[in-house]
Order: sequence, then structure tokens, then C-alpha cells
Amino acid sequence: MLKVNNLNVSYGYLQVVWNVSLEVGEGEMVAILGPNGAGKTTTLKSITGLLAPMDGSVQFLGQDITGTPTHQLPHLGLAFIPEERNLFSAMSVEDNLLMGAFTIKDKAQIKKNLRYVYDLFPRLEERDVQLAGTMSGGERQMLAIARGLMSNPKLIILDEPSMGLSPENVVAVFETIEKLREEKVTVVIVEQNVDTTLKFANRAYVMEQGRVAMEDTSENILSNDHVRKMYLGIG
Ligand code: ATP
Repeated sequence: MLKVNNLNVSYGYLQVVWNVSLEVGEGEMVAILGPNGAGKTTTLKSITGLLAPMDGSVQFLGQDITGTPTHQLPHLGLAFIPEERNLFSAMSVEDNLLMGAFTIKDKAQIKKNLRYVYDLFPRLEERDVQLAGTMSGGERQMLAIARGLMSNPKLIILDEPSMGLSPENVVAVFETIEKLREEKVTVVIVEQNVDTTLKFANRAYVMEQGRVAMEDTSENILSNDHVRKMYLGIG
């Protein structure tokens, strides 16, 4: 579904991503892990058109999308949920969700999608008229993910969904991610909560100093003490 080939990305003269290649199949949840500054966010930004790679290519559903502007990606079936979440704080939960369906013209389809996300996340329906800015951190992340689902994406890319959240909210975010897993949504996720992420993901790429240091199934990574210590800083 997603194929990233030999991506090289730099900020000015400083190259921070080197020959990164990734593949994600339909229905898979794939994690990108690694220490701070390893180049995970930069990789996501160059996949989603926020940064132009120096070279390399990104293919999505067989189509070359390298450098395609971010706002066009939902039309192709790719939803990117950045770290900043970008919700409209002064708008209600429901209006935020409806904004997520901007690629869809058919009103009946929009209604169907709203029903789908409300069934998936009843908390959002309970809070439908609440202003997004007054939701808890975990609820805002749930809303950002649900808004992404409103466009019927074939792939969701999540950048550090648990970033900056309290422990309870981190639990709430992983409950949301578990729902995506159950629904077999194809997901690429960058996360700092390595152990929890590996419980949900099928496979992971571990980045180190701008390169893919290794790739394996979550099961193998979880059971490999050397990899855990060496690349992920967990014992
Ligand atoms: P973290 O887990 O801390 O978010 P990361 O793996 O996502 O880290 P990136 O944010 O991709 O890493 O950063 C990779 C490298 O690029 C870092 O050394 C960072 O300082 C540098 N970098 C990131 N953004 C910029 C920028 N706008 N200008 C210059 N350098 C940058």
C-alpha cells in the first residue's frame, strides 16, 4: 500500500534522513521507533508532503505521491495526524468531525461516516457540542484520529499520538489505537511508548541517526533483549 524508497532529506545543508526505505501492506499497523532526533518525524513529513526529499520516492496505492501537497492526500485516501493535532479549538467536536469529511460531497455518506466514528468512540458523541479546545488531551487525540477517519482513509499516519499527555490520557490514546487495530485500518505510527506500541503494531522499523537500523516483527523485537537495550533504551 505504501512504499518509501531510499528517502534522503535535509534541512538546509544538514542531512538528517539517509536512504530510508519502508513498506506497509494493507491492514498492517507499522511502527517507526527510535531515540529522539533519529529522524522519525522528518521521515513522516517527507512522506506527507510537508518536506521535499532531496531524492527518493513515495508510492501510495501504486501511485507516485512524492512531493504531493499535504492537503491533496486525503483525496487520495491518506490521512496524516500530526503531533500538533491541528484541531479547531473554538469549534464543537461534531463540527471538527464534519471538517474531516471535506473530501466527500455525498451528504448521506458523511452522515454514515459520522455514525461510524460515533459508534467507534461513544465519548465523542456524548461530547458532540463541546468545544474541541476544552476536551482533555486524550479526548483531543481521539477526536483528531476520528476526524482523520471521516474521510474514509485507506491509510492513517500518526505522529506521536501520546506526546505530552498525562499517563491516564496515554492509556486513552492507546485504547483509540486498539480500535484502529480492531477495525483493521492500515496505520503507520511514530511513538515514544515503545512497549505499548509494539503490543499493537505488527512490525516496526527502528531508526537511529537518520537511518533504518533494523526492521522486524513486533514479537521479535519485544523478545530481543539486545535490540531493546541497544536501539530502544529499554531493558
Ligand atoms: P523526536 O522523537 O525527538 O521527535 P525524531 O526521531 O522525530 O525525534 P526529527 O524530529 O525527525 O527526529 O529530527 C531529526 C533531526 O533533524 C534532529 O537532529 C533535529 O534536530 C533535526 N531537525 C528537525 N527539524 C529541523 C528543522 N526544522 N531545522 C533543522 N533541523 C531540524
